[in-house]
Amino acid sequence: MTVGFKCQICSADDLEILEAYRTLPRVTSDSKPWPAGGELSVCRACGAIQKLPTDKWQTEAAAIYQNYEMYHLSRGAEQLVFADAGAARPRSERLVEFVLDKSSLPASGTLIDIGCGNGEALGNFSRALPQWRLCGAELTDKALPELRRLPNFETLYTTAPSRIKERFTLVSIIHSLEHMPVPLEALTDAAGLIEPGGTLFVEVPDVETSPFDLLVADHLMHFSRASLGEMAARAGIAPKLLTNELAPKEITLLGARVAPTIPKRDPERGLRLARTTVAWLEHVMTQIAAVAKDNQIGIFGTSVAAMAFYGAFRDRVAFFVDEDPARIGKIYDGKPVIAPKDAPKDAPVIMALPPSRAAKAAERLAAIGLRSVCPPPLAAA
Ligand SMILES: [Zn+2]
Repeated sequence: MTVGFKCQICSADDLEILEAYRTLPRVTSDSKPWPAGGELSVCRACGAIQKLPTDKWQTEAAAIYQNYEMYHLSRGAEQLVFADAGAARPRSERLVEFVLDKSSLPASGTLIDIGCGNGEALGNFSRALPQWRLCGAELTDKALPELRRLPNFETLYTTAPSRIKERFTLVSIIHSLEHMPVPLEALTDAAGLIEPGGTLFVEVPDVETSPFDLLVADHLMHFSRASLGEMAARAGIAPKLLTNELAPKEITLLGARVAPTIPKRDPERGLRLARTTVAWLEHVMTQIAAVAKDNQIGIFGTSVAAMAFYGAFRDRVAFFVDEDPARIGKIYDGKPVIAPKDAPKDAPVIMALPPSRAAKAAERLAAIGLRSVCPPPLAAA
């Protein structure tokens, strides 16, 4: 099927549309329900999973950013990373520590965070690298007053990164590349900002361990380690590290600037991953529909998956269950967010988590007498 769009990574005119995706509920990246009707594809030449940047997608993404409220459910408090032991720490704090640990940075240098948002990562960099000069790049200067409060903050660029003259010791792109409408160009431009010997740090959602990421309407790209690695090579970045084992559900890339190369394409794994993940999501929705038919339900979590489910079964959802103290006690759309120990015992709780994490959380709920519904296992991709 010719769709008029080429692969964002390898430029092949060979995108396979995943028809079933159109029926799946969607969610915004700031965790608000969004109606079904998206278009998802996978490249038959390289296996990269991607939405189509149609006029509709561009309009929807613009509408989402217009009303963006990061972490609205925890009233501005950054999402916590829960280790399985139960300890929780802000996500970007851990990431920053990791980058410092792995990239042997000099005591002083310059850093630019591309897509810096309100400066959540820059704040952590500022504390960890007090001798450094920090810059950000963003579409607007809305966050400038906040950024200026960081003691070593210098410049917020609102021009395209390709027009920035300065070069940087560390260039970071954290939870931003997956949103960009022309991602290979964005990554290439970012690579161009690295000074000799400098480092690029990229953080994106991992479609292999986070199948629900496909439901995020404003994410154009749904990277695996393979597709991010391929895009990096084409952008002139040699990964020193490319892992999905550092932060849950995310890929972390640290790399150095090199001449761009065109890697050998190996589409099979990506094709399987795309097809099996969409089929699995359909299966999950059918399973929830069967439970919700005869019951009021609770939803575990207030993540993107939880909000996608909520959008699809709004009338049947009586409450949310959450273990994050910052969210417990909040009301979302008239529905309470309840601690597990206080949740009604008679309503099944839908686990809005990937299978591996759902099973562990379900055990904790079973121990206090809650009935949960876990997603089926993901087919091996
Ligand atoms: Zn491709």
